[in-house]
Amino acid sequence: MKCRHCLVEFHEHKDEYFIGKDVDRYWAIFKYDCPACSRMNLYLVNGNAGNSQSGLVIIENTIKSVIAIRPFGSNRPPCPQEVPESIALDYREACLVFPFSSKASAALSRRCLQNLLRDAAKVKPSDLSKEIQEVIDSGKLPSQLGDSIDAIRNIGNFAAHPIKGKSTGEIVDVEPEEAEWNLDVLESLFDFYYVQPAKVVKKREALNAKLSEAGKPPMK
Ligand SMILES: [Zn+2]
Repeated sequence: MKCRHCLVEFHEHKDEYFIGKDVDRYWAIFKYDCPACSRMNLYLVNGNAGNSQSGLVIIENTIKSVIAIRPFGSNRPPCPQEVPESIALDYREACLVFPFSSKASAALSRRCLQNLLRDAAKVKPSDLSKEIQEVIDSGKLPSQLGDSIDAIRNIGNFAAHPIKGKSTGEIVDVEPEEAEWNLDVLESLFDFYYVQPAKVVKKREALNAKLSEAGKPPMK
């Protein structure tokens, strides 16, 4: 698993602390220690319980909810470090407020998307709906990603209410699934615009270093 403090991947070992039962079934804390940063990753887990050698434990396939309590926030993977800080900031907050307010999360993720499209796709600043159209029309996105951001316009009825589309910070009624969709799409866009290109640059640099050692000209 990936540590949600330091983002380092580590071999997970779970310590489970059973808390008890209420009307919403059983509760336990799952603890994973990160050897890289020496911090605990803690989750409050809810589901059905069964007996094990160490007493009652939550049964994996009955888990109803998992709430990240340290570090606090959603269970979403952390923002990749290749993403510019100004964009990452809105994304992190959109994830953080998601368990409490879909509306607040969606407003933040829409603003994040707008800044991302302006920064990475270089769209002409307009309203979000038009900016999304510009990116789709450019044909530079894989079709699946294009369809995914297109769907964001329908969330909170953006397409039907052009005025809403003008201001990304507008609070509109959204379902939790819709707010989550925004975050999923942002995650895919981060990968497409920032993570993959950075990987290519790294690979090219490594190759060029080898070519130069061999006395050959660098790859263009
Ligand atoms: Zn860590």
